Amino acid sequence: MDSSPAHPTTRTVHVPRPDAGDSTPLSVPLYQTSSFAFDDPDALREALVRPDRGFAYSRFGNPTTRALEDAVAGLEGAAGGLATGSGMAAVNLVLLGLLGSGDHVVAQRRLYGGTTTTLQDLAGRFGVEVSYIDGHDENELRGAIRPDTAMLYLETISNPMARVTDLPAMAGIARSAGAITVVDNTFATPLLCRPIEHGADIVLHSATKYLGGHSDIVGGVVVSASTELHQRLWRRLVDFGSQADPFAAWLTIRGLQTLSVRLEKQCANTRELAQRLAEHPAVSTVYWPGLVKHPDHEVARRILSDYGGLLAFDLIGGHAAAYDLLRKVRLVTSGVSLGGVETLAMHPASTSHRDMTDDELRAMGIGQSTIRLSVGIEHPDDLWADLAAALDSAGTRSPAPRS
Ligand SMILES: *Cc1c(COP(=O)(O)O)cnc(C)c1O
Repeated sequence: MDSSPAHPTTRTVHVPRPDAGDSTPLSVPLYQTSSFAFDDPDALREALVRPDRGFAYSRFGNPTTRALEDAVAGLEGAAGGLATGSGMAAVNLVLLGLLGSGDHVVAQRRLYGGTTTTLQDLAGRFGVEVSYIDGHDENELRGAIRPDTAMLYLETISNPMARVTDLPAMAGIARSAGAITVVDNTFATPLLCRPIEHGADIVLHSATKYLGGHSDIVGGVVVSASTELHQRLWRRLVDFGSQADPFAAWLTIRGLQTLSVRLEKQCANTRELAQRLAEHPAVSTVYWPGLVKHPDHEVARRILSDYGGLLAFDLIGGHAAAYDLLRKVRLVTSGVSLGGVETLAMHPASTSHRDMTDDELRAMGIGQSTIRLSVGIEHPDDLWADLAAALDSAGTRSPAPRS
């Protein structure tokens, strides 16, 4: 990959393609095959133990899947990548594949729900000890790290309040304590942030979101800074059966090639909506790291090249106004997931964060009136017209007093 162009936006378009002899296909071909035929039995044996020596069976490796793995590894500046069947398969590959009983993990408190569930399961059944930290206080991390701490687990941008983690500060502390740092970079993508440059050892993605970008696949990718970690994870991937299906990998590559133009538009649209929402009388607060008032604006300026396509806002009218808005939007679609070309709105307190108590929600800053938007690539005026119409009728009235 040495001849790859320097700019990540160019790299997303020029995905490495498998060799086809004298000519090269312009797009990555879909190798929809489970197994590969060999004339030489030695070559087959070799391919089964050395994934870089050829393809034997698609759970071990596949040329289409490899193209995606190499593309994302290249974008993240990693030694190697592994494509998985979902983002959760990527999370589980890393956590189950690297942690053992007695290990201690320090994790950010506001992680993706499925990740928290896996950590709790590891703690409950395998004696992995987990300490949760806020992710914004270096001293809290220093206090949580112990001699047996094996891993620090972070997210670049967290859901739904778009908090941004100070990756260089956090990863530096973990490194000096001998722990590896794992970063879920789903919300940022390698175009906004490359955590390995900030000291991460492993970076993972739900490719279902921005990398795929069209809400048509479920997939994940794990990349490692070192060949040693990459090979360890590859062996676990083979045994766990976490490998991505070639067709999903092929669609993800197709999505990846337009990531830079989609994301640029999504960031620009989000800026526009954040500013207009902030001025609307029905809205009390807007959360987007591009706004100077966001608590992590300074960190975001340092580690992100743009502020992302996710924002949250609180409505003055409380829970009723939030539900009203979701019922009234027409162009903006009410649904979970994120990162696709279409704008989605959701109510975290009743969906992604429904298992949390009121106190836990409050600690994360999630209110009963909080709406999260994943902003798509539509014309911003159309998005605003739809939101403004829903907001105007959702009303600026105050919530009914509690008796
Ligand atoms: C969606 C998501 C996941 C899980 O990915 P799936 O593809 O749904 O399995 C993990 N982390 C983050 C930050 C996510 O948004």
